[in-house]
Order: sequence, then structure tokens, then C-alpha cells
Amino acid sequence: MSANKLSAHWMPFTANKSFKEKPRMLSAAKGMYWTTDDQRQVLDMTAGLWCCNAGHAHPHIAEAIAKQARTLDYAPSFGFGHELSFELADRLASLAPGNLNRVFYTNSGSESVDTALKMALAYHYAKGNIGKQMFISREKGYHGVNFGGVSVAGLTNNHKAFGQWLPNDRLNHTQDLALNSFAHGLPLHGGVEKANELEDLIQRHDTSRIAAVIIEPITGAGGVLPPPVGYLKRIREICDKHDILLIFDEVITGFGRTGDVFASQTFDVIPDIMTTAKGLTNGAAPMGAVLAGDHIYDAIANNSSAGVEFFHGYTYSAHPLACAAAMATLDVYEQEDLYKRGAANGEISKYFEQGLHSLKGLPGVIDIRNYSFIAAVEFEPLAGKPGATGSLVQTSSWEQGLMLRSLGDAIAMSPPLIMEKEHVDQTIGTLERSIKQHFG
Ligand code: PMP
Repeated sequence: MSANKLSAHWMPFTANKSFKEKPRMLSAAKGMYWTTDDQRQVLDMTAGLWCCNAGHAHPHIAEAIAKQARTLDYAPSFGFGHELSFELADRLASLAPGNLNRVFYTNSGSESVDTALKMALAYHYAKGNIGKQMFISREKGYHGVNFGGVSVAGLTNNHKAFGQWLPNDRLNHTQDLALNSFAHGLPLHGGVEKANELEDLIQRHDTSRIAAVIIEPITGAGGVLPPPVGYLKRIREICDKHDILLIFDEVITGFGRTGDVFASQTFDVIPDIMTTAKGLTNGAAPMGAVLAGDHIYDAIANNSSAGVEFFHGYTYSAHPLACAAAMATLDVYEQEDLYKRGAANGEISKYFEQGLHSLKGLPGVIDIRNYSFIAAVEFEPLAGKPGATGSLVQTSSWEQGLMLRSLGDAIAMSPPLIMEKEHVDQTIGTLERSIKQHFG
């Protein structure tokens, strides 16, 4: 494609100028592989952007979308309904833990996050605690790109050009390499101590001002940081003690990535509100869903104005094509037993873990971390150029037929749950060559 033809599309999170000099174009996808415009097959170890958990272009999902487009292409969801959206909500509620029985549809992870934050504010407002307007999140957290999500996110580049909106403070969440480097699965040390830092923040700001804590069970875009043992449970206890809601951002971790439908089930900690998106439709249609506890819904409903509980929603909430994609996706996850396949002690997860950790000792590798089907390899930063190494390794891997995610000085992997041993072997072999090429 000529650079001229590439000029109009202002690409998100992309170095537009260098992309246009050397475009990386995808023209098709099937199962574990992309096809590029020059007909190369590239192994997708990212499930797109952490979303195509059942692999690409699944026929059952494709057919469900096509059929729905011919039957009911669109239906407004403000004051009207269509059956599939209710069926899907029931199904999601039945898959979710605890009392997360109320499903609010959005179109993306960012919208799910902003919806969840607004629910937390509306909950406290309904209870008469109108001072509770502040959020606690984590350094390195990523919660999408809308105003609320960026306010609470902890990635510097996503903040600095845009100012500050929601009152917030953050827990320290950098990986403690002195304590937990090269952990296989969950890091063993320091979980409770780290969680106790929440007590300090509460002391500093006062519980009467704090609405909710929002965290990813496993931080994804901030570098793949699995929670140290005991961390999430302790955060839950502290929130309960201070009447602070707990929001889990499960946009990445939902739908099988940790061996259950949701990471909250894997880690046995139930939040008050949970955000989802991505794997909900296997990436085949834009959709998110916020799952709220009955207590959240009931409090907000009791405070309704003219019968409307929540003055919030999107033109495309509960979009019929997205609902059809989600129903078909949930069928596939169940029929192909993909939730179990993602379990940390499953055969493929273990094989992946062993392969990854065999890279320890290669030049430049300062940490390897993984939980189940989510992993990262971190590199020594280049002198005077922090954050550059991930993209170097990503680029040379791409040239050798492997798609990885670059995250600063790390590369991340979140393969589709259909991954087999041969895909692990290809990944580890390519990674080894790429690492040696840059650091060897
Ligand atoms: N939350 C988390 C944890 C995410 O990883 C992401 C996207 N990577 C989002 C929210 C935002 O999702 P979206 O890009 O669909 O808006």
C-alpha cells in the first residue's frame, strides 16, 4: 500500500509516521494465525488485543453474527428490548460468582470501566454518602481510555497530555524484582504487606471520601503483573471494613484466561462490580458488559427518579449483532472446554510456563512472569532509552512470523486458549532468536 493511501487513518496507540514507512498489514485470520497482505502466516500469541480467546474466525460465531444481521440488525435498548439481550444477561449472571446478577451492556472495555465508576458513585449517592467520590487504583493499572478510566489509570503516557479529572490516588504496584523475580505462577512473597498499603491511603484521605478501589486481578497492559498470594483477599477485607466498593476490571482476565470464566473465581475474591469486554464476543463484535452485585442495583433502584434507575447508557448497548456474537462465543467456550484448558495447572499452560522459563539466563532477560495463558518477558532497558526494548523484540519476532505485544521494556503474550504445544515451541524458538539478536 502506498504511504499516500495510508495517510487519512489516524491510528490509535501507534507511531503513525513510522507505521506508514513500514506498514504491517493484516488481511485474514484463522485459528492461531494471521495472514499478512504479503501472504505470510503469523502466529498470534496475543489473541488480537487479548480478546480472540477461541482463536480467529470461528465459524459458529461468524454464522451467528451473519444470521442476526439478517433478522434484527438493530434495536434501541432505552425502554425497548430484544430477547437475545435478556438471554445473554441471564447466562452471564449464571456464569458469574456471588451476587453479580445485574448485567449492564456497553461497547468496549473503556465504556465498561466508566460505567462501573459511575455505578459506584451512584451507589454511594443513593445511600446518602455523597462525600464518597474518590477512587483508589494502582500504579501500572490500565482501565481504558475514556475520561474516568484514564483518571484512575496508572500509566504515565496515558495521562500526561490530558490533565486530571476524578479525584484519585494509587497503590504502589511495580513488580518487586528483589522479592519475586522469575515467579512461576503467582508470586509468593509480600502480598498481604502490599495490600496493607491500602490502609495507609485510607488514613490519608479518609474513608468518607473514598467510593471504590478499582484494580485488574492481573495487571495486563502495565506489564502482566499477577497478584502476589494473599493480595486480592486482603484488599477485599480492607474494602469491606471501610464501606469501600471493590471493582475488578476483568476486561482482559475474563472468559477463560485464568482457567475459569472469571479471575475472581480463580482467586476466590468476589468484587462488588466487575467490568468485562474483549473475550465476551471473542473480539468478533465490539461489546462490553458490567456485572453488578444485587446490592449495587438495589440501592441505585431504590433511589430512582421517575422510575429510571440509572441515567446512563449507549446507543449500541445490547446491540443485537454483539449479543449474537457473545451467545455464540459462550457456546464455543463451553463446547470446546476452553475455560478448563486455560487452567494454570493444565497440560498446555504448564508446557507454556516451562518453555517461557527456559529463556531465563538469556542476555538481557531480567524477569519472566506468567499465570496460565498470560505472560511477560522483561528486558534490561537500553541506556538512555527506557521503554524501547519490547518493541525491538516485537519487531524482529514479527519479521519471523510471530505476533507479540510490546509493553515498554517487556513483551507480553496472551495466546488464544486453543494454543497447542507446537505453537509454544514456535514461540519460544523465535523469541530466543529475537532476544539473542538484540542482546546477544
Ligand atoms: N480495562 C482493561 C484491563 C484493559 O486491558 C482494557 C484494554 N486493553 C480496557 C479496560 C479498555 O478496553 P477497550 O480498549 O475495549 O476500551
